[in-house]
Amino acid sequence: MSLLVVGSVAFDAVETPFGKRDKMLGGAATHFSLSASFYTDVRIVGVVGDDFGREEDQVFAERNIDTTDLERISGGRTFFWQGRYDYDLNTAHTLDTQLNVFADFKPKLSDAAKKSRLVFLANIQPDLQREVREQVMGAELVGLDTMNFWIESARESLIETIKGVNVVIINDAEARHLTDEPNLIKAARKILQWGPTALVVKRGEYGAALFTGKSYFAIPAYPLESVFDPTGAGDTFAGGFMGYLASQQKIDEAAMRRAMIFGSVMASFNVEEFGTDRVRRLTHEEINERFRAFKQMTHFEEIPFDRVKASAP
Ligand code: AMP
Repeated sequence: MSLLVVGSVAFDAVETPFGKRDKMLGGAATHFSLSASFYTDVRIVGVVGDDFGREEDQVFAERNIDTTDLERISGGRTFFWQGRYDYDLNTAHTLDTQLNVFADFKPKLSDAAKKSRLVFLANIQPDLQREVREQVMGAELVGLDTMNFWIESARESLIETIKGVNVVIINDAEARHLTDEPNLIKAARKILQWGPTALVVKRGEYGAALFTGKSYFAIPAYPLESVFDPTGAGDTFAGGFMGYLASQQKIDEAAMRRAMIFGSVMASFNVEEFGTDRVRRLTHEEINERFRAFKQMTHFEEIPFDRVKASAP
């Protein structure tokens, strides 16, 4: 029962139509690990500067996230991302990306980290994702996420990294962008041909879809009336998805379908408040309640067409 994540640990400046934060804890690995920590033991591989203080450490400590493999560079500055969302909250507009300490980062995994059963290569430079992947060759399942920034600046390296993972979890615009294919079904087929056995496409307020070589499964998003800040929703989804899988002995398609629901449940909470605020306070009962709501929302009775005709007036 263990899950390792490599990815950005960051300070974010975010503006949405509903408010603004100049500096809050963020980063793909942060959102991912907070979410996954509700299901399993999580460890982070990454790097921060000495502007990363007690308050930030506390967020990970509260959820028992293991930060032994989080390197600290004295005199360095933590990764910084600035983004804006307009009324279409599905699209993040990046205003600034400062890699800072990530520019020279060489991930060195502890022995315990190398033994992780599941690994997630969250959004970060694809060479770094691959360096981590190569140190955990015994892992049972490896997932990967990325974003436009890396598709544009490191495409070949990214495709090389994708070839070595089992599950890709990206959003729909990124799947199209990465494959240069406007049709999502064809884009999915192309990504699966590179090697992964499953692809999860996140579609913001429209839900998420799971593609394998022989099946397709899609779910809606939880219907929320107030969405404040979508930052980190994708990573929070991935954390719920991978965290749930890590809690299961058998990782088969049925488990992946349930993981899709847990991912969506976690993401639905994340967007209700800024940054990590909502997920930090989440309870198991709240998760259960929303899981049950998904079951109800997607349930329908199977009726053979003969019976439809038989009951026609
Ligand atoms: P998402 O889950 O897709 O909304 O990801 C949001 C998080 O990604 C933010 O907290 C940012 O710190 C982080 N982020 C933004 N751009 C990058 C990038 N180029 N590489 C790694 N992480 C990033």
